[in-house]
Amino acid sequence: MLVTVRGLVVGEVVASDNAKYIHVLTAERGKLSALVRGAVRLRGRFTSSTQVFCYSEFVLYERNGKYTLDDASLIENYFSLCRDYDTLTLASYIISAADYLSVDEQPDAELLRLTLNTLWALSHREKLDRRLVKGAFEMRAAGLSGLAPDLTACRGCGKREPDRAYLSVMDGCIYCPDCMAERELRSRAENDIRVDELRTAQILLPLEPPVLMAMRYSLYSEMGKLYSFSLDGKLVPEFAAACEKYFENQLDHHFPVLDMLNLSPPEKD
Ligand SMILES: [Zn+2]
Repeated sequence: MLVTVRGLVVGEVVASDNAKYIHVLTAERGKLSALVRGAVRLRGRFTSSTQVFCYSEFVLYERNGKYTLDDASLIENYFSLCRDYDTLTLASYIISAADYLSVDEQPDAELLRLTLNTLWALSHREKLDRRLVKGAFEMRAAGLSGLAPDLTACRGCGKREPDRAYLSVMDGCIYCPDCMAERELRSRAENDIRVDELRTAQILLPLEPPVLMAMRYSLYSEMGKLYSFSLDGKLVPEFAAACEKYFENQLDHHFPVLDMLNLSPPEKD
């Protein structure tokens, strides 16, 4: 049976001398893996539409739940992401995360949309601070996977706009300074543990109010406006670190590509 789907190639694996499997993130069928014959030839028929970062329309032959490519036509490619090392590494991280979060045959139109929006922003809006893009993507992707932290109010007392918030990475919530102090006192009394040990063990990250606002925005803004926010440059590292730590801890997964990523502030005009 032939099926037609639109999807983003998020990964590829060599299958033989002249064939590869591609991982395609689709809206209709979630992630699927398809065999591409003749793929390794430089001028193969499908070379330009089946590489990583290609968003294409695929005609697939399906048999017993396995897919073989019959035809493909490119809709959009994001090859401009290769313009510099940091952008390419960040884009590689984005598609690895999408690949990791997507589930075979489980439709996930929002994850595909988030991934395409992010690649589009990285390839077309060169002035964007990529540290903000990375953090906002992580928060939104966590949210789409049902792992959003509750950032609406302090879990202890319900205060909505604390002077400073502490993000509990493990529990996925925030505490105000008063509730934080109370937790520390209690914990010290019970376990004879030092404050810094407690904060490290539970991964409690202090967040300035604008950072908390930016994290809320990343979770709840309209998808089309996700990358339309700014943050004082001094606070960007705090935002970026909190988002990354939260994402990796909640997923309980480390993405090796992150070890190669060290994003710097955007250059001034
Ligand atoms: Zn509180």
